[in-house]
Amino acid sequence: MIKHNLNMDMSLTPDAVDFIDDEKIQNLLANTKEDPVRLEEIFAKSKEKKALTLEETAALLAIKSKEGLEKLYNTARELKRSIYGNRIVLFAPLYVGNYCINNCKYCGFRASLGNKTVRKTLTHEELVSELLNLEQEGHKRLILVFGEHPKYTPEFIAECVKTCYSTKIGNGEIRRVNINAAPLDINGYKTVKQAGIGTFQVFQETYHKETYAKFHPAGDVKGDYMWRLNAMDRAFQGGIDDMGIGALFGLYNWKFEVLGLVSHAIYLQNRYGVGPHTISFPRIQPANGLDPNDFQFVSDEEFKHLVAVLRLAVPYTGLIMTARESEAIRDDVMQFGVSQIDAGTKLEIGAYSRHDKNQDLSKEQFQVGDTRDLDSVIRWLMQQKFIPSFCTSCYRVGRTGEHFMEYAIPGFIGNFCTPNALLTLSEYLEDYASEETKKTGFAFVEEEINKIADPARRDAVKAKLAQIKTGKRDLLF
Ligand code: SAM
Ligand code: SF4
Repeated sequence: MIKHNLNMDMSLTPDAVDFIDDEKIQNLLANTKEDPVRLEEIFAKSKEKKALTLEETAALLAIKSKEGLEKLYNTARELKRSIYGNRIVLFAPLYVGNYCINNCKYCGFRASLGNKTVRKTLTHEELVSELLNLEQEGHKRLILVFGEHPKYTPEFIAECVKTCYSTKIGNGEIRRVNINAAPLDINGYKTVKQAGIGTFQVFQETYHKETYAKFHPAGDVKGDYMWRLNAMDRAFQGGIDDMGIGALFGLYNWKFEVLGLVSHAIYLQNRYGVGPHTISFPRIQPANGLDPNDFQFVSDEEFKHLVAVLRLAVPYTGLIMTARESEAIRDDVMQFGVSQIDAGTKLEIGAYSRHDKNQDLSKEQFQVGDTRDLDSVIRWLMQQKFIPSFCTSCYRVGRTGEHFMEYAIPGFIGNFCTPNALLTLSEYLEDYASEETKKTGFAFVEEEINKIADPARRDAVKAKLAQIKTGKRDLLF
């Protein structure tokens, strides 16, 4: 069945299921009360790095007491350290085009805003220029972002990905390209997969069907809840086992969305043996034409609560906190389980080449909260004792999807992730850091190497670092 002018096969997978059980979720939310004894059991299960059920997740969402929240935060902190170590992976979003045929009520790109939003798709030359600028800042990992439009075919997206990988300057190169675009049909996923994409992200926005309908008009492609919910099944069938899910917090009750995300993760794990690679939890930001009365804004305290619950519920899924959040919030929430953040973020199309510091909502999808450049974010992370990482090793040596799960076991972080984080950080310090960042950075790397438990690994890291000093790049474990 071909619908709209997207030239896409709009059929769902033959065995598509609606795995969001609204009634069950609403019952859990209405009837689960804080129970300190049960909470202790759940915290103990979490510390064993076991994923939680919906019921257990609801029990964590029901926490109201100060002591209960404190224990939740401590467990999230502990779990983050034991599974992910103290590294934070850095990336930059690159907006390729903001033409869009949909009318999502929260988005500055929506079609009905017409020319109130400045419309633009990067030409090949402009894309290259953006890439050269990002590489010269020190970025190695990108997420390409697109509106939904007949211009942005899978072939076009694949071409952009190839341009990312082939554009290099000095020691600068992009080693991983993720995508955030409208969901594709199975053949579309195959096409982008062949271009070597990393994660394909599709956010459900809200798992609550009535709210979904309120924000996404029925005639739009995006108005079809099941087409979107089925996006990851099609991705799997198109050969992509590295998927990112997400909800846009502020459209409906945040606790419902957390249970929606966990239902999604459980479904994918049970069905395909692989959970989502990442979960994103953007909060609504000011945008062109946005009416604040439409939203149920999530407070900072609630935000912290939801991130900590997600950390416990899906211990092996990466959690992404974007620069929609301010420096202060990022500072506070990072320790509860976030594993990836963007830095030096610019949303205006072409802005990395213009070095434009001002934000203009008529050109952006929404407002950025953290406007610091990459160098400042790296310095800040190291001050907080986080290792900034540009590591792309797993994907490049084939440790993804279910293989990734095998490797995400004790010892793996210490032997692979931390060493690779230190190597990529050292490359950054050599090639791109400011004098101030270099000074603190090299001392920090030294400090972190000495914490590597296995002496043989420690020596191997030191040997690779010595090679980086002599100009070698892209060394990995
Ligand atoms: N157009 C594609 C789609 O909608 O799936 C690609 C993604 S869109 C460019 C990226 C994401 O930005 C959306 O999925 C949505 O969650 C988020 N977003 C949109 N408007 C936002 C706003 N005002 N504040 C924060 N996030 C927003
Ligand atoms: Fe278009 Fe995506 Fe914005 Fe919706 S969220 S209007 S689909 S760019």
